[in-house]
Amino acid sequence: MHQINIDILTLFPEICEVVINSGIIGRAVKKGIINVKCHQIRDFTTNKHKKVDDSPFGGGYGMVMMAEPIFRAFNYVCELRNTKPYLIFMSPKGKMLSQENAKEKLIHKNIAILCGRYEAVDERLIEEIVDEQISIGNYVLTGGELPAMVFLDVLLRMIPDVLPSKVCFENESHYNNLLEHPQYTRPRVWHDKPVPEVLISGNHKEIEKWKLENSIEIK
Ligand code: SAH
Repeated sequence: MHQINIDILTLFPEICEVVINSGIIGRAVKKGIINVKCHQIRDFTTNKHKKVDDSPFGGGYGMVMMAEPIFRAFNYVCELRNTKPYLIFMSPKGKMLSQENAKEKLIHKNIAILCGRYEAVDERLIEEIVDEQISIGNYVLTGGELPAMVFLDVLLRMIPDVLPSKVCFENESHYNNLLEHPQYTRPRVWHDKPVPEVLISGNHKEIEKWKLENSIEIK
């Protein structure tokens, strides 16, 4: 079995828990195919007020996440996994997420994901422990949790046994440089629109031909 450990470092574990416990991902977690755990960065502060951020040196708008609580949280994960997981920082400055570069990450059996909040994370922390920065698109969100969940979902559904069959993701958009053909289900006629005749013909060769012809090549 392809056991993979994913540790998420966040100030909002509750945002991630919903995704981790729902649908196909939730089922894979319950079956033990994947192991996903959220860690509250605030639990790793040493100050009385559990402060995780401070104002930026040099002035400017917003707050910066301090290096030490994140560093301590990551060290805890290293001890938990008995190794240094490949650490990804979700960031709009990172490399753009794609099916291809998500697939490459599956060589790692231990992955940690750092979710940023506020204006920034202290750059020295990024230099010291982050292996790669990944962006989910050229826009800015308020936190790294949603991007982390997008990355996690893309990654996990390519793991054997998470989906019922490899065919499920190998035939899908972006996997083979094709965009998936249109799909239809019951009823056969809806709002006067019948489904394409060939799909109910029972002729499997013709059906496969139709599906391929109706998949769009990504240029
Ligand atoms: N001031 C920063 C943006 C901070 S947004 C800048 O201009 O680059 C706060 C956090 O949200 C970031 O640390 C990051 O973890 C997350 N985030 C926002 N947009 C993102 C995106 N497009 N992809 C990945 N993470 C993103």
